[in-house]
Amino acid sequence: MKKTVAIMVVAMLLIALATPLFAQGGKEDGKMTVGIAMPTQSSQRWIQDGNNMKDILESRGYAVDLQYAEDNIDAQVNQLENMIVKGVDCLVIASIDGESLTNVLEKAADADIPVIAYDRLIRNSPHVSYYATFDNYLVGVQQGGYIVDALDLESGAGPFNIEIFAGSPDDNNAYFFFNGAMDQLNPYIDNGQLVVRSGQTEFDRVATLRWDGATAQQRMDNIITANYISGQRVDAVLSPYDGISIGILSALKSAGYGTSSRPLPIVTGQDAELPSVKSILAGEQTHTVFKDTRVLAERAANMVDAVLQGKEAEVNDTTTYDNGVKVVPSYLCEPVSVDITNWEEALIDTGYYTADQLK
Ligand code: BGC
Repeated sequence: MKKTVAIMVVAMLLIALATPLFAQGGKEDGKMTVGIAMPTQSSQRWIQDGNNMKDILESRGYAVDLQYAEDNIDAQVNQLENMIVKGVDCLVIASIDGESLTNVLEKAADADIPVIAYDRLIRNSPHVSYYATFDNYLVGVQQGGYIVDALDLESGAGPFNIEIFAGSPDDNNAYFFFNGAMDQLNPYIDNGQLVVRSGQTEFDRVATLRWDGATAQQRMDNIITANYISGQRVDAVLSPYDGISIGILSALKSAGYGTSSRPLPIVTGQDAELPSVKSILAGEQTHTVFKDTRVLAERAANMVDAVLQGKEAEVNDTTTYDNGVKVVPSYLCEPVSVDITNWEEALIDTGYYTADQLK
C-alpha cells in the first residue's frame, strides 16, 4: 500500500513538473514565437524583408525563428514542418511555390497555428488568415505605364520594338504584374506603335522560372540573335524584377548595346535592389519599383498581433486575392515608381538606403 502511494506521489510530481514544459511549446523565456519562412537570400529584397520582420517582431516582444530556403520548395516545406513540430505560435510565409503548401498548412491548422501570407499569396488552402502585400496589379501598371510615357506613345510616337518578360509561373504575383503591365501596353501593340519582333507575348512564353536572372539573360540573347539581325533595335524591355533586368542588360551589352551609336533600351524593374539602383545611376537600367519592405513588415506584424490576440487585423482589400479556396483578407501597401528623376527622394530621403550604399 505504502509503495503504491509513493509511486502515485512520484507520478503526480513528474506530471506537475512536465506540464509547464509541454505548455511552453516553442516559447522561449515565456515569449511567443513567430516562425518566418522566406524564399531566398539570393535577392536582396528578401534579406531586407527577413531582417525587418525579425526586428519589428522582436521589438514587440516575440521570439523569432527566421529561415530561408534558397528557392528550394522541399526545403521550405521541411522548414515549416520543423517549426510546427517545435510549436511556434504563428507562421509568416513568403512562399517559393504558392501552390505547394496545402499539406503543410493542414498540419499547421491541426496544431492551431495561424498563418499569414507574406508578399506572395498562398494558394489552395483555407488556412491562410491574412495576406500582407503590395498592390501587385499597380506594380505592373507602373512598369508598363513607364514605357508608355518614356516612348511618348500617347502622342502617337512609334513604331518601337519591345520585348516582354514576366516572373515565375508558380508565384501568384507574377500574373498580377504581367496583367497590370500588359493592360498598359496592349493597346499600343494592337495599333502597331509597339512591335514585339519575337512574337512572344503570352504569359507562359515570357515567364521566367524562379525569377532567375541567368534564365532571362539566355532568353534575351536568343531573342536578339533570332530577331534583331539586320540593324533593328530593341527600344524597350518590360522586365518585372531587378534581378531579371540585370540579366537582360548583360545580354544587351554583349550584343553591343550601351554605346552612343547604340544606346541601351528602356528597361523596367522592381524592388529597388542596390545593383539596380546603381545601374540606374550609371545610366543603364531605366526604372524600378520601390516597395518599402519596412512598411510591409509593419503590416504583417500587425496581423501577427491580431491573430494571436484573437482580434481582427486592419485590411484594405477583401475582394482581389482569391486563393482558389477563399478570398484572403489583404492589406495592400503602395509601390512607388522610381527612375533617375526621383531615386533620391524615394530611397535616400526615406532612409531606406544611405548615400554611401549607392557609391
Ligand atoms: C515579389 C517581387 C519580387 C519577386 C522576385 C515577387 O513575389 O513581389 O517584389 O521582385 O517576387 O523575388
